[in-house]
Amino acid sequence: MLKLIRSITVVLFLVIFGLSSSIFSQKTINDLKPTVILISIDGFRADYIDLHAPPTIKALAENGTRARYMKPPFPTKTFPAHYSIATGLYPDNHGIIENNIYDSETKSVFGLSRREEVMNPMWWGGEPVWNTAQKQGQIAGAFFWPGTETKIGGMQPKFWQTYDGTVTNFRRVDTVLGWLDLPQAERPTMITLYFSDVDDAGHNHGPESPETKAAVMTVDGAIERLVSGLADRGLEKTANLIIVSDHGMAPYKQRDAIVLDTMFDTNLAERIFWTGEFVQIFPKSGVETEDIIYDSIKKKLPSNANIYRRSEIPKRFNFGTNKRIAPIVVIPNEGTTLTTRERTVTAANNGRLDNVRGAHGYDNDLVSMRATFVGHGQAFKQGFVSEPFESVDVYELICKILKIKPAKNDGKFKRIKEVLD
Ligand code: AMP
Ligand code: ZN
Ligand code: ZN
Repeated sequence: MLKLIRSITVVLFLVIFGLSSSIFSQKTINDLKPTVILISIDGFRADYIDLHAPPTIKALAENGTRARYMKPPFPTKTFPAHYSIATGLYPDNHGIIENNIYDSETKSVFGLSRREEVMNPMWWGGEPVWNTAQKQGQIAGAFFWPGTETKIGGMQPKFWQTYDGTVTNFRRVDTVLGWLDLPQAERPTMITLYFSDVDDAGHNHGPESPETKAAVMTVDGAIERLVSGLADRGLEKTANLIIVSDHGMAPYKQRDAIVLDTMFDTNLAERIFWTGEFVQIFPKSGVETEDIIYDSIKKKLPSNANIYRRSEIPKRFNFGTNKRIAPIVVIPNEGTTLTTRERTVTAANNGRLDNVRGAHGYDNDLVSMRATFVGHGQAFKQGFVSEPFESVDVYELICKILKIKPAKNDGKFKRIKEVLD
């Protein structure tokens, strides 16, 4: 009995002590160095801030700076776009040319779910901002960001996590707040955070659906938790929050998809990536295989899609010099996707042909592909709406805020500098 009472007392003590230390004794941080918390809301289209009206993000934009929109790189896909934000390089120059990549020299295949490849430095070129910061004596921490799970140029953020989509948004936020609580000598100044809910809902229900609005509110709740955690530490005005997205989202129905594998002999290809918005075809070696595939598709392809040889991809995409890009690519217009007979049959059997869904990966000049930029904190103007700039410009902006020297990149600081106070 005595033992039981003792254990209850210990438990009670722990609960009360735990509560009081988290609620009542949050220490003010008054030695913060210039710090950036770079937050990605995957698939948060530029107009969502008005369309879905998330209160915290809207308030941050109103009290800080917001771009009319941010132009993503082509292809408007998660990995290339995130890594362009991190490096200031176009996908052609950083090497993550799509979410799926084939390196024909080494015969290796990169994909989001191939953990060992995501963690293999061979794919990742350029210098991401977390390394630029660490090379110059600062510390970086990442609660997810493509590229942070690997040693690029022999270096990785001091704090990083293996990607796991099941980790709750609140845990991501609380971990980041915990990093800020470290003594100054151990505290990261370059921090990343990533949320996937909005992209997931956008794909499954379309950009304008109530489900996507609900996902926007969920992520807004996580950002609210971050903002109030910063306020608890007296950092709400000093810490620099940069909220970005990688790309937008366009609605489509599977019924309108183009069934591309009916238009050429797929046996002539060594490898095909059936990404709905950007199909890559690697012809088998042999005389004229490439020409045969190209001519066959060219003849049959409807006018709402384009086929290009790598060298013919429009210059405005800044995409086409990297050897990892397939010799033949097919790019549909928004409102449609590229598919196979098998996928069409599966969608029909599941009664999904007329469901509105969302897609991205298309032409980066489309309004529907536009990304978001919101900046808030010491470095940013207040109540300012800037002209559009590009995702590749964010790298130099962060370097400026952190007072570090940027590596060579494709961004233009003059396009983005008006956001700074
Ligand atoms: P997508 O819409 O195909 O361009 O990619 C979005 C998906 O990428 C999200 O739903 C996440 O599950 C996934 N993702 C984001 N970051 C990572 C990462 N670091 N490693 C693996 N998958 C990721
Ligand atoms: Zn994405
Ligand atoms: Zn997506």
